[in-house]
Amino acid sequence: MMRAYRAARILTMDAQRSVVEDGGIVEENGRILAVGPWKEVGGEGACHDLGSVTLVPGLINAHVHLELSHLAGRIPAGQGFAAWADGLFGAMKSVRPNPSDIERAVRSMQASGTRYVADVTGREALMVRRALDACGLGGHLFREFSGRSRSLGLQSDGMPGPWSPAVHALYSTDPVLARDVKGWCCARGLPFSLHLAEVPGENELFLDGGGDFAGFLRSRRILPKSFAPSGMSAVACAGALGLLDSRTLAVHCVHVDSHDIGHLAASGASVCLCPRSNAWIGVGAAPARALHAAGVPLCLGTDSLASNADLDLWEELRAARTLLGDDTPLADLLAMVTLNPAKALGIEREFGCLAPGRRAAWAFLPADFDPSASAPEVSRNCAR
Ligand SMILES: [Zn+2]
Repeated sequence: MMRAYRAARILTMDAQRSVVEDGGIVEENGRILAVGPWKEVGGEGACHDLGSVTLVPGLINAHVHLELSHLAGRIPAGQGFAAWADGLFGAMKSVRPNPSDIERAVRSMQASGTRYVADVTGREALMVRRALDACGLGGHLFREFSGRSRSLGLQSDGMPGPWSPAVHALYSTDPVLARDVKGWCCARGLPFSLHLAEVPGENELFLDGGGDFAGFLRSRRILPKSFAPSGMSAVACAGALGLLDSRTLAVHCVHVDSHDIGHLAASGASVCLCPRSNAWIGVGAAPARALHAAGVPLCLGTDSLASNADLDLWEELRAARTLLGDDTPLADLLAMVTLNPAKALGIEREFGCLAPGRRAAWAFLPADFDPSASAPEVSRNCAR
């Protein structure tokens, strides 16, 4: 059935027509048929007047671990990565993931405007996919690999829905395995992801094998036996292994210098910032402004409820805005949760902007992001 939605303003994120005042969206069977001024597109279909709101494309959370949702509030904040990781390992042993916690987390994402999720899964891919399906959210599942080198064995894999393999981190994964995972994704044109330069000491580890973080990894037997310092930073190491290109989502990138940022920009990789998770764990803050200035496509992820108070992308965007500066254009902020992750995940024909043919998936812009929020309400009547 055809439906027409009217809103005071639509920020389409579409280059053709980015701002539509007194706008309308016509959709049928979940697809957008038309976007434009209400007087042009509002003549057909059952009308739903959404009132004095600003519509934006449905938000995309580029990094979350939904199968950790049962650990909400169980891991202490602000004590650094080692304490957080030890807390996580202990909690994971004592409490099992369950469908109701995952579904509750997905519903909270949906309520705050998220329409698509890039989720990192271990064993609970089916549980996560069922929760996404139950709530009508699209999702790409990154099946995470770490540890020693081995055959990927993915041919007969029964992963539900869109997915691709990913690497946990270079400090936990044999480099040959990391290259194989990326190669598997490249051969199929699929997105790839890894946690990169998140932890203080990660660069020191790759440079010379020393430091507190290296000691932590060795004592917990996380560091692969094959590990050898490369004499490079974590980002340079990822580049040397061929892991960075336009289909790579490099997550965190907190501990990156100007050389690393240049490397990331030249590679075409997208960087997924998780500012509130970084603050929760206490690993520092990413140089978001420098990354943005270098032209690195930025995305945003909430990470999991084991390192965040909620999975609300608007809250994440507020934290990112603090890092980027209040002078950052709204379109650049919105791109981090719409266009940029859509491109990185290869779903730009479905999500990321409001245009004909795309999914009829939108969110409401909160007043504190809306430069015209104080404008008087447009007076109008619904045509039909
Ligand atoms: Zn993560």
